[in-house]
Amino acid sequence: MSNSELLFAQAREVMPGGVNSPVRAFGSVGGIPPFMVGAKGAYLTDADGKEYVDLVCSWGPALLGHSHPEIQSAVHAAVDHGLSFGASTPDEAKLGQLIKDRMGGVERVRMVSTGTEATMTAVRLARGYTGRELIIKFSGCYHGHLDSLLADAGSGVATLALPGSAGVTAATAAETLVLPYNDRAAVETAFAEHGENIAAIITESAPCNMGVVTPEEGFNKFLKDTTAKHGALLIVDEVLTGFRASSSGYWGLTGKIEGWNADLYTFGKVIGGGLPTAALGGRAEVMDYLAPLGPVYQAGTLSGNPVAMAAGIAQLTHATDDVYTHLTKQSDALQEAIIEAFTAEGLDHSIQRAGTLFSVAFGTSEKGVHNYADAQAQETFRYAPFFHSMLDSGIYLPPSVFEAWFVSAAHDDAAMEKIFAALPAAAKAASAAKA
Ligand SMILES: *Cc1c(COP(=O)(O)O)cnc(C)c1O
Repeated sequence: MSNSELLFAQAREVMPGGVNSPVRAFGSVGGIPPFMVGAKGAYLTDADGKEYVDLVCSWGPALLGHSHPEIQSAVHAAVDHGLSFGASTPDEAKLGQLIKDRMGGVERVRMVSTGTEATMTAVRLARGYTGRELIIKFSGCYHGHLDSLLADAGSGVATLALPGSAGVTAATAAETLVLPYNDRAAVETAFAEHGENIAAIITESAPCNMGVVTPEEGFNKFLKDTTAKHGALLIVDEVLTGFRASSSGYWGLTGKIEGWNADLYTFGKVIGGGLPTAALGGRAEVMDYLAPLGPVYQAGTLSGNPVAMAAGIAQLTHATDDVYTHLTKQSDALQEAIIEAFTAEGLDHSIQRAGTLFSVAFGTSEKGVHNYADAQAQETFRYAPFFHSMLDSGIYLPPSVFEAWFVSAAHDDAAMEKIFAALPAAAKAASAAKA
């Protein structure tokens, strides 16, 4: 028995499914998840001493590579000053300012501990500010595990959603309208029918949780214009894409160019540098509805934790233009290598791309992937054999076809060569897969 097998067996005696976040259990790819004991640069080391080139990067936070020396030393220095004070600390406004500097329309920032808290607060704030109840979300967009946004079913316009999880009440689900992504007519119909009572649209800046899906040109601007016209707010969820898709998130590739800002943004992943920190930000007039200034309550014992702030400040300070240029270059190179390996096997696919983020989809070349229905219609059975072939070759991919791939500043040419070398055998395995 390998150490990971033993650890997984022990973990299952303690935690449901042996994990603290479901995707880690390898449910959709099968097999035993390697337990990790170390991470440095572009590499992970498992409990059996095997090394992997990491294409998950902690789902985004390892932007500069694992255990980056500047982040490590900032964290060590912060630890020496104390772990948590239960009072305001100087670095909270400093990290907030770094976020403000990069994003349009972020006049105020509130730190929280997880992306889920950020979107939960944004939704409550939008309701409190507008005095309205309904929220529009798009099918296939993930905004964390708050009840009202797990709602996902409901095809067609203004269909009241079914709960996306057991334990979510029908009453909660009914307050969320779930619409197909990239579908302007569906948005227009929802506002025509319910406009007076829609508090906000929440959307991923570019969806990355049904695989990567690119918003059609002008789609986010359309959402901004539509919400503005009807007195609703636009919440742009940049928890995954923020300071990752580009130096100013996916907003930097859309709103910054098209000349619009979201009313509220949510951030997470990258801004904690690997520690648990997230934030919401936006227009002062809306943000000041939060307590203690306004009537919308929100709080957090460890919000703005000094060690996490130090990590986030080091991360954003060292996430220079050169870093994003490097991420783009390595993403381009990887995309080309995937296309070459898949083409050699006659494997039908499309590569979905949003800035430096991308994912692969099988059997989708004709239509492309524009929404959740397209993503679900792909040949998902090809991913598990592809994934396991890569894993055997020492490449750690996201353990689900519906997740984005992440490179880091530490993915040098040597690491990339290891990935390229593993692709042909994995493409063969995917090609041989049977439904
Ligand atoms: C990861 C993610 C969240 C949730 O963040 P957690 O820190 O896991 O709670 C919310 N929105 C998006 C787009 C995400 O990718």
